[in-house]
Amino acid sequence: MIHTCSSSEHFQKAYIPKEKQVKKISDSDSSVEGREGVVKMGGPPVPFHISYIPKPQDEYRILVNNLSEEFEHVWLETSEDESRFIHPLEKFSSLDFVDTAAASDPVKPHSLDHTPFKLVEQLKDLKELVLKLQGVDEFAVDLEHNQYRSFLGITCLMQISTRTEDFVIDTLKLRIYVGPYLREIFKDRTKRKVMHGADKDILWLQRDFGIYICNLFDTRQASRVLKMEKNSLAYLLQHFCGIVAKKEYQSADWRLRPLPDEMLRYAREDTHFLLYIYDVMKVKLLSLSVNTESSSSPLAEVYKLSYEICMQLYTKDIWTDTSYLNIYGLPEAGFNAKQLAVVAGLSKWRDAVGRAADESTGYILPNRALLDIAKEMPLTSYRLLQLVKSKYPYIENNVDYLVNLIRNSIQASSAYEAGVECLKQMLRGKNSDVNATSNINGGDAKTSHYIDKL
Ligand code: AMP
Ligand code: MN
Ligand code: ZN
Repeated sequence: MIHTCSSSEHFQKAYIPKEKQVKKISDSDSSVEGREGVVKMGGPPVPFHISYIPKPQDEYRILVNNLSEEFEHVWLETSEDESRFIHPLEKFSSLDFVDTAAASDPVKPHSLDHTPFKLVEQLKDLKELVLKLQGVDEFAVDLEHNQYRSFLGITCLMQISTRTEDFVIDTLKLRIYVGPYLREIFKDRTKRKVMHGADKDILWLQRDFGIYICNLFDTRQASRVLKMEKNSLAYLLQHFCGIVAKKEYQSADWRLRPLPDEMLRYAREDTHFLLYIYDVMKVKLLSLSVNTESSSSPLAEVYKLSYEICMQLYTKDIWTDTSYLNIYGLPEAGFNAKQLAVVAGLSKWRDAVGRAADESTGYILPNRALLDIAKEMPLTSYRLLQLVKSKYPYIENNVDYLVNLIRNSIQASSAYEAGVECLKQMLRGKNSDVNATSNINGGDAKTSHYIDKL
């Protein structure tokens, strides 16, 4: 499968021009009153990108490997013929995790204000947390992440809640310690990990910390099996706990330090109620099995779905000469070979720059701007800058280079006739099964189907 930059697509759309960004969220802004103050400044209350934040990669000397080569799962065993990695879960069946004990009454947590909370920023605090987790048989987990200011994405926070305490780990500051100290606990099959919508988190944990999970109960999967009206955490929080989550923080810039209290509170809310929600869902799932005649119990079904999520293995985006064909909206653009050659040239450039500077391709040159440039094929710096409406530092600093790149791409455009045909086929394919696609990620497999024929 060819991997695209499409995962950062919605961040590209959400790009906020510099002048509209909130100047500064200081600690004193972090109370509820403070947040009102931020709202009054005219910008969005929670900017998804705060440009003045120093890059944590530099600040905390975070080393990443952005090279266009396969990700090595160095913490996994390999098969005898070394052809594949073996996930620790392979030794188990999802049925091993189904809790057969009768459901007991759900245990409501205390309010956030009456729950001990620790921001884990020092190694000694992480060690204390590990001791506590060694003593429990279940805990809730969530991550906050930033994918706009790094090439592969970077985990900014890990929230953990036990039955009695909340923890937020600064995974930027403690990045190199998270794996060594928490790897065994996450792998421990006797400890249930409750998460909501863990699909991405599973991959981030592998990529940043070499952490692989055994024994997951995903409340999002449970909400599906229970056929609930909605499957979002916001809905479950409201439905089961009467909590209205401030979901605008979901897309906040989680690299911000020190974290304002409001953001910490939001982060805690993402795990604080999960064990209780698990309790309630377990009761419901068990009562469902009494009513239905299905072969596997609904509770077992949730563990099976959660098991499959854990079994995913992180893969890195590898650049290939046809990667540019995956750009969102490209088939619809109806480009000729010259325009397509420019798309290919710009895509290759932004991929290389993104990897070298550890920035997302969406930060270097968002898809929308890339397609606008390719459509017009500007041959002067002035026209190129006129075309891109927002400020993109990497475009501004390379404008002459880019004009040259456009010119050279046009000259070599005959090689792109096949690409034009491929895109036309893709569009026909899309239009013919437009009603059949319910999954927004479903496009990838089809795209590679056409590209393979190139
Ligand atoms: P959550 O599990 O909902 O807290 O989301 C985890 C991370 O996914 C966030 O820190 C964001 O990086 C990203 N994310 C989730 N939903 C959105 C969204 N609607 N817009 C932008 N980023 C999101
Ligand atoms: Mn999450
Ligand atoms: Zn979260």
